[in-house]
Amino acid sequence: MRAMAIREYAAPLELMDLPIPEVKPGSVLIRILTCGVCYSDLKTAHGKMPFSPTLKLPHVPGHEICGEVVEANPQTGFRAGERVIVYNYWSCGRCAMCRMGMENLCESLNAWVGFTDPGGFEEYLAVPADRLLRLPAGITPEQAAPISCALGTSYRAVVTRGQVRPGQTVVVQGVGGLGLSALQVAHASGARVLGVDIDPRHLEVSMKLGAAESALAGDAARVMVRDFTSGIGADVVIDTVGHEDSLHEAATMARRGGRVIGIGYVVGGFARVQTDDYVLREIEFSGSRYVQRYELERAISLLASGRVQNVIDDVLPLERANEALERLSAGKVVGRTVLRVCA
Ligand SMILES: [Zn+2]
Ligand SMILES: [Zn+2]
Repeated sequence: MRAMAIREYAAPLELMDLPIPEVKPGSVLIRILTCGVCYSDLKTAHGKMPFSPTLKLPHVPGHEICGEVVEANPQTGFRAGERVIVYNYWSCGRCAMCRMGMENLCESLNAWVGFTDPGGFEEYLAVPADRLLRLPAGITPEQAAPISCALGTSYRAVVTRGQVRPGQTVVVQGVGGLGLSALQVAHASGARVLGVDIDPRHLEVSMKLGAAESALAGDAARVMVRDFTSGIGADVVIDTVGHEDSLHEAATMARRGGRVIGIGYVVGGFARVQTDDYVLREIEFSGSRYVQRYELERAISLLASGRVQNVIDDVLPLERANEALERLSAGKVVGRTVLRVCA
């Protein structure tokens, strides 16, 4: 099968011919239709992930996978031809976190698809049946690809960790791929949403997707939030940036007792937080990691209902994965680039 693989860090991916994976009992063979290209694929290709020093190369990246069932044992509950997306944390089910019901925090994943294990930049994947979610009719493979990562992660950050309620004011700091999803989930939750970014093109798109207002990061954003909330500040700020000062920036836009949810990070990076923000202003700072399967199912329902959409910048054939990564690296992508793997 065709695959685009990392053979060397910070070098272009290479087209390889790999064997079709073996299907173990309880697993389902899927033909990959589309795969989203995410910023973490870029970090993986550049050796900038926590596991990079020990990752065996060549490695096939890609974790935003939509596929079609090729063959499945009837006991798996799947039939050939069904369209699915892949939940890419294959948690162990045995560790303390799994026993507490927190599969997104599993301490010994059986596989982390596209990160430490082969991903979606290839034609076939064997997936445990319980890691597949059915795709409702009407969602195209192109729309479906970014569900498992961008939309799922945003859903958990906004609904579960952020506990966003109708009528609240939510600021999304960084309205790129992930942020545009977070903005729409917050909007669908009944919140009034404000978009903040350093790129005016992202702000423009955020306005089309339900932002009440948007502003460039910095003074303009602080003034917007202050005026919009009559000086109170936002109930929840979702930070997709994860740079050294972004939590501090987020806190300046949050109200007293508000919540800052971080979904952007840099491996080994630190975030500065002002002590009086979390003590005297009682701001809660929380991280949010990926998504649980039940949350992902709800995110899929939101997409199926048309209340959120995945913003697709471009659709390219698998062989042009490098072009997709370069465009992402150059900050040229608005929303997601999707690779068409099997036409
Ligand atoms: Zn991703
Ligand atoms: Zn576990």
